[in-house]
Amino acid sequence: MKYDPLKNYINGEFVAPRSIRTLKVVSPLDGNLLTEVPMSTKEDLNDAVEAARIAFHKWSKTPIKERVQVFFRYKFLLEKNMKELAEICSEENGKTIGESVAEIEKCIELTEFATSLPQLVTGEVLEVSKGVECRTEHVPLGVVASIVPFNFPSMVPNWTIPNAIALGNCMIMKPSEKVPISCGRIAELLKEAGLPDGVFNIVHGDVEIVEAICDHPGIEAVSFVGSTKVAKIVYQRATSNYKRCLALGGAKNHLMVMPDAIPGMTAQNVAASMSGCAGQRCMAASAMIGVGNVDNIIDKICDEARKIIPGENLGAVISKESKDRIEKYITEAEQQGAKILVDGRNVKVTGKEEGTYVGPTVIDFVTPGMSVATEEIFGPVISIMRTNTVDEALAIENASPYGNAASVFTQNGGVARYIIDRASAGMIGVNVGVPVPREPFSFGGWNESKFGVGDITGKSSIEFWTKLKKSTVKWNPEAGVNWMS
Ligand code: NAD
Repeated sequence: MKYDPLKNYINGEFVAPRSIRTLKVVSPLDGNLLTEVPMSTKEDLNDAVEAARIAFHKWSKTPIKERVQVFFRYKFLLEKNMKELAEICSEENGKTIGESVAEIEKCIELTEFATSLPQLVTGEVLEVSKGVECRTEHVPLGVVASIVPFNFPSMVPNWTIPNAIALGNCMIMKPSEKVPISCGRIAELLKEAGLPDGVFNIVHGDVEIVEAICDHPGIEAVSFVGSTKVAKIVYQRATSNYKRCLALGGAKNHLMVMPDAIPGMTAQNVAASMSGCAGQRCMAASAMIGVGNVDNIIDKICDEARKIIPGENLGAVISKESKDRIEKYITEAEQQGAKILVDGRNVKVTGKEEGTYVGPTVIDFVTPGMSVATEEIFGPVISIMRTNTVDEALAIENASPYGNAASVFTQNGGVARYIIDRASAGMIGVNVGVPVPREPFSFGGWNESKFGVGDITGKSSIEFWTKLKKSTVKWNPEAGVNWMS
């Protein structure tokens, strides 16, 4: 076992949980055992909430300009420790080192945004009546929780950590039990950056801890990122306990390719979007709709896909179960009459026989009713459908219950605008395969890709992590008596 068994992180210390139940953490790259992660109990969560509650008194009263100093230092520590963080990310998640470095770079960008929060949460003041001022202030909520998925062991935790904490909250993080190592290193770096003990805590676990978070009376808000199935459970349970909740779910993102799209650029974008992070991105291209004759572009997509080699420039999928599930989807599509143009099944990487790799897969002549057309596959697979018109393509996109991202590839501005206006997704790309908005713009989908109001990052997150205090003030008696008196 490469690392010591993991512990929770409570009040600035790594502490053994009460439970003896653990899960093994295995590297998808080669099947090696990395560590064991504890499945904590409600009592462990109580300890973390109590530590966070005590820390909140002082942290919430610390001026925001002082609070963000921690994040200036944290940003430099992320840069300094980039190589080590990327290696941990890669070995626990299975993505390539290049993708892991990009993930840490994104953590840095998220942290930079948090350091700018003092400029954004200045509140408002106005003389609303003679001698009477109204003023608004963004006030932290208290103890908040962040529950995260396996596909970005560092980035998704950092969607919430810098903003929620810089805005004055204290946090309980529940890492994915599949990739629990990175969060521990994040905790150490936050401490080194000067974050007071108790402001950031980690409680490892699975369903039991997620349910306990949703039920805990000491937790004010819950942010969740993961599958739609669990997002619905968490949203329903947390809000039924009168908590604020923002729950991001799964996705099925459509790329609509017009015959006038630039073939080389389009093919590169489609191939990179469907295969990046082994297709395990909620922003991955999963379905492509070719409008009219785009055969030349599909040929080029296949050429690009063949350049993507498992174990070299393509990482592993998270587990054997995932690999089997993805391959089952491909086989089922083939049996239903789709054509497998590039086949990523039964891949073995020499020297890493226990790694869980799926090669890039291009499936053509998919029909809208097939499961590869409608369900989230979460592997390096693109399902190509064909239509004669833009409206038919939009009808397919609009029929999806999800609504994270959609993209159009075209040289025609009118067509692009037509699709931006009509696609039913929160994030739209024009000639961009992974249309992730970068800070200060916020990240968040629509429909069953997100439950709750607002987005999880950028300016929009300020509303989620704070509550607004409104004060109405009159000091000078000569202002007189009016209806506000
Ligand atoms: P998941 O839903 O299985 O797990 C997410 C978290 O929920 C984990 O911490 C896990 O421990 C917990 N969990 C799992 N089952 C639970 C249950 N029954 N009750 C309570 N808690 C439970 O998701 P995953 O497999 O880790 O991640 C992949 C999914 O996340 C994909 O669907 C992907 O699209 C989605 N995702 C979405 C976004 C987004 O921004 N919308 C971003 C990243 C990932």
